[in-house]
Amino acid sequence: MRKIVLATGNLGKVREFKAMLSSIDLDVVPQSAYKVPEAEETGLTFVENALIKARNAAAHTDLPALADDSGLAVDALGGAPGIFSARYAGVSAGDRANNDKLLAELAGVPTEQRTARFVCALALLHHPADPVPLICQARWEGMILTEPRGANGFGYDPLFWVPSEQCSSAELEPDVKNRLSHRGQALAALIQQLSRLASFWAMSMTVAR
Ligand code: IMP
Repeated sequence: MRKIVLATGNLGKVREFKAMLSSIDLDVVPQSAYKVPEAEETGLTFVENALIKARNAAAHTDLPALADDSGLAVDALGGAPGIFSARYAGVSAGDRANNDKLLAELAGVPTEQRTARFVCALALLHHPADPVPLICQARWEGMILTEPRGANGFGYDPLFWVPSEQCSSAELEPDVKNRLSHRGQALAALIQQLSRLASFWAMSMTVAR
């Protein structure tokens, strides 16, 4: 089975990627298995950060690398927390502190103004110097609740209301979330691109480093 390194240390994401990529012939190995040091996310956009993370993982493993950069953009906060979603309440803040900060920032904002979306950028590199990365982006529209609901998922899932399902994203079964979510949609697009690019794997095996 072809091996690909997944450039994330986030166990919630590793779970989702493994489930979503199980339908194609790919052995997805998290970068922690290779002790890849975390890349510094210095980009200003989700796409730039995804590329930085994929390049870092490919450089440390000699494997093709897939990275996602994702986050939550809230309209009433001018798109915050955006690329800072993981560290909204501070560099070592966890999900709980980030969610508490989001609720505090949105205190008093009426329901109809609590529109938001999850955004995901995926970048797949054959090798660290790959000049033609595969890039896919997707968004998942919803609203921010006034209190957490549900126990599934990770991150801001308990605060993200999914209008089409009438529940929070932390109340969705994992397979339903994977079908609807920003990451699920971006990955579906990436898988489509990959299947059109039959040469991808041949190239990744032969490129001289
Ligand atoms: P990244 O690891 O730099 O991409 O940070 C992504 C952050 O955005 C996560 O730590 C979460 O806080 C948030 N996030 C991204 N995707 C999701 C999701 O599917 N559910 C909940 N939170 C998410």
